[in-house]
Amino acid sequence: MTRVYNFNAGPATMPLSVLEKAQSELLEIAGTGMSVMEMSHRSKEFQAIYDGAESGIRRLMEIPDEYAVLFLQGGASLQFAMIPMNLRRPGKSADYVDTGSWASKAFKEAKTTGSANLAWSGKAENYSRVPKTGELQLLPEAEYVHICTNETIGGIRWAQFPETRTPLVADMSSEILSRTIDVSRFSLIYAGAQKNLGPSGLAIVILRRELADRAPADTPIFLRYSTHIEERSMYNTPNTWGIYIVKLICEALESQGGVRQIQKINEEKAARLYRLIDSSGFWRSPVEKESRSLMNVVWRLPSEILEEQFVAQAKKAGLVGLKGHRSVGGIRASLYNAVSLEAVDALTAFMKEFERTNG
Ligand code: PMP
Repeated sequence: MTRVYNFNAGPATMPLSVLEKAQSELLEIAGTGMSVMEMSHRSKEFQAIYDGAESGIRRLMEIPDEYAVLFLQGGASLQFAMIPMNLRRPGKSADYVDTGSWASKAFKEAKTTGSANLAWSGKAENYSRVPKTGELQLLPEAEYVHICTNETIGGIRWAQFPETRTPLVADMSSEILSRTIDVSRFSLIYAGAQKNLGPSGLAIVILRRELADRAPADTPIFLRYSTHIEERSMYNTPNTWGIYIVKLICEALESQGGVRQIQKINEEKAARLYRLIDSSGFWRSPVEKESRSLMNVVWRLPSEILEEQFVAQAKKAGLVGLKGHRSVGGIRASLYNAVSLEAVDALTAFMKEFERTNG
């Protein structure tokens, strides 16, 4: 077996130790005579797994007790719809900051069920940066402000989060657990699991419990946060396998020293790659320096032909998942928690050689 250096944007590479542990428990877990996938979600054995996943996330992110942690389905995309349905009361509006593909999808979805205000858009600047303080045109009476803290496609992130007087809601799909954050600054945080948390088919929602009471009475039961809080994510059959993997990922991260420790490694990984990109005119970052993502590093080569060759030759060398998103082109390396420093060093070594022969 040869495992490649995997720079996919999501689903993405996972810690090998987690895959091995899952493999060793695939046929039977904890003396039950069955696989996690064959177990009732209502059994005490599965409840212990669920509790392990929830408490792992709570510890790693230092989540205060007044927040609920939910494991839902429908990906981060369903949250684009659930957030306005639950948090924006009839006749009210919400602020949306358009930093790229994902933030604009959230905005578009919010407009289907009510009023939403575009507080800022980076579209005219090709989504090359996040806004500066003072650029946001927030409504004083908005129900919340929605941001995407890290744009997976555009490769930009909020290094500092905005100060808002209304509740802050954040899509952290592509950077959750990669950096320390003060959860109490947010009213709701959500993330699709398939980058830093586990497999796809699962979304994590962390929200102030009191916000769940806002949903209008005609909100479908399944789409109310209050339903999932009351039932501890077991109103319907949850993604039991996904929750199990989240538990293993949390355990692996805790044994590595937690988010503080992984953040240092993540900063070093991104620094090594950006340093090389900035080192010659052959590579070009389309992103303003202060807004550069540590999780999704995007860059261009002198021509699209060279970009195609780069991706193809990298693949042959065992470096996969480097093609930029189809909507923007170019190159993208996703450097999630499970991507090692060694993988980044292999990538930069390959890049130096590519530049030497093609530059
Ligand atoms: N938000 C961000 C920042 C994302 O990167 C993605 C998926 N790549 C989504 C939302 C959508 O997530 P899902 O596919 O889980 O619905």
